Amino acid sequence: MDTQLSVRGLVLKCLSVGEADRSLVILTSEGQLLDAWARGARRSRSRLISSTQWLSLSDFHLYAVNGRLSVDQAERIEAFQAVTTDVERLTLAAYLGDVAMDLARAEIPDPVLPRLLLHALVALGRLDRDPVIIAHAAAFRMTACSGFCPSLDRCGVCGDIVDSQAWFSHGRAAVLCGKASCRRDAAASEPLHPGLLQCLRHILGATEESLFSFRLSEPVARDFVALATRFVEERMEHRYERLSLLESFQSFGGGASPRKDASASRTSEPDDRDCGRQSSGNSDR
Ligand SMILES: [Zn+2]
Repeated sequence: MDTQLSVRGLVLKCLSVGEADRSLVILTSEGQLLDAWARGARRSRSRLISSTQWLSLSDFHLYAVNGRLSVDQAERIEAFQAVTTDVERLTLAAYLGDVAMDLARAEIPDPVLPRLLLHALVALGRLDRDPVIIAHAAAFRMTACSGFCPSLDRCGVCGDIVDSQAWFSHGRAAVLCGKASCRRDAAASEPLHPGLLQCLRHILGATEESLFSFRLSEPVARDFVALATRFVEERMEHRYERLSLLESFQSFGGGASPRKDASASRTSEPDDRDCGRQSSGNSDR
């Protein structure tokens, strides 16, 4: 039996244990979660001190002792410093880490999950992007790609193609068409602004590189955050306390969630998709 393992992975959990050790949860580039022990990693002269910190992307050399993985060597590739030095971005990154861990535990390992998470962490570090929108877009896409993909093109009741006028049923994880009979069948449906439907379709269909290249008007951004939060929490069947923590930070500091204008605080890029900024007059609410 092979007792040694070399993997590239992201440290999603790092607990201090004993005098100087760390207990790690690593999401590998293949989408597998590994529990590993880093002996003496908190000592100031340890060669593992930076490479085993939370949110370090590192190349690990691991070995198994009595069925438990320990870190022999690790070389840090990326520290995501722009994320870890800002409390809002750090909290959102922690939220994404929690979602990724839950998905990795629930599903068959898939390299798409760590790839999406790394793209999100890079985007979260960009000061010209709204971190709240990025985090919720990433959580929505990661959840959708892990066996929970919502139907956004066809009505979840009658199967007809849904155009711009739509409702969203969390119970069915699907859009509903405008027919009263379909909406009656799913009492808990909520109207979808055309811009929000466009945004959701972009998040599911975009390449990983262009996933975060979209802009939202203020009301659409607010609805998007609420829908994405509920979608993820209902699929994972629990609440994420990091988001509550974030709201308390923001109310204490006078911020808003989402930002007053999801695009106003940054420079737009030429390829940014504009979701709902022209058509703000949805009469369904
Ligand atoms: Zn229908």
